[in-house]
Amino acid sequence: TKKESRNSYRFFSTHMQVQTARNLQLVNALRHAIALDQLAVYYQPQVALDSGQLIGVEALLRWQHPQLGFISPAEFIPLAESSGLIISIGNWVLEQACQQIQAWKVAGIQGLSVSVNLSSIQFRDPKLPALVKGFLERYQVTPECLELELTEGVALENPEGAVAMMDALYALGVRLSIDDFGTGYSSLNYLKKFKVYKLKIDQTFVREVTSNDEDQAIVIAIIQLARSLGMKTIAEGVETPVQKAFLLAQGCDEMQGYLLSKPMHSDAATAFLLTYNP
Ligand code: C2E
Ligand code: CA
Ligand code: CA
Ligand code: CA
Repeated sequence: TKKESRNSYRFFSTHMQVQTARNLQLVNALRHAIALDQLAVYYQPQVALDSGQLIGVEALLRWQHPQLGFISPAEFIPLAESSGLIISIGNWVLEQACQQIQAWKVAGIQGLSVSVNLSSIQFRDPKLPALVKGFLERYQVTPECLELELTEGVALENPEGAVAMMDALYALGVRLSIDDFGTGYSSLNYLKKFKVYKLKIDQTFVREVTSNDEDQAIVIAIIQLARSLGMKTIAEGVETPVQKAFLLAQGCDEMQGYLLSKPMHSDAATAFLLTYNP
């Protein structure tokens, strides 16, 4: 009825105002989060499925606000993107990751890759290749140790520009992977043009991979697609030995997930990497 719909409209708009107020508050707080030392990069280990050897870590951003508490990147990354703050925050994460690679090298931890999530907004920044090159030089990072995770959306608006950016990053020697593969607006055509090193199988497919036929079919298809195109695969969100066994049997190369470890603060990650035994 009319009355109901007016009520639901009022409810919806109040809800939106609350949302907007929180978002404004978050964006304002985010503006100073780096300077106030509220951001930290956590690291989640990744291993080869067959040998169990460590192959790398993914860098994941954490924000602890003194009053608002822990704020999930799933909430603040979109706000950082819509406000433009993602450029400075994303560049900060890149620099932290390069610094960490250098620190680990000093500690005798070498040959691991550190994957950094790149927003499509960073990916469209013409200054990105020079910036990455600068960090690689400043922290004496072997380029293959740095992996950049992109989402399928990067090629959406400007496919030619995306190919040019991929080529520029590839020329630096860093590795490129497609995050959340299969969940975005993908054209398989770009896999041919992009110099992609690895596909990351999204955790929404992994979650029910042993119980849901569709998810199982999708995971198998992604692994086969990657293999025939000469790309590696990593499954994310692996939580159980049964999921792990399935992925291994299907020929998936690597895994990351709570089964192995949650993302950790730099010190805890260092301890993990130094003591890990497959
Ligand atoms: P993502 O890149 O797909 O990262 C994987 C997410 O899954 C992370 O959530 C990770 O903590 C979580 N995860 C890992 N293993 C498991 C598992 O076994 N089970 C479950 N249920 N979850 C697992 P997180 O850290 O909350 O990050 C959420 C998203 O925020 C990321 O998704 C990424 O899209 C974005 N993000 C995080 N850090 C950055 C960053 O530095 N830059 C950008 N642009 N985005 C970031
Ligand atoms: Ca990621
Ligand atoms: Ca992902
Ligand atoms: Ca995701």
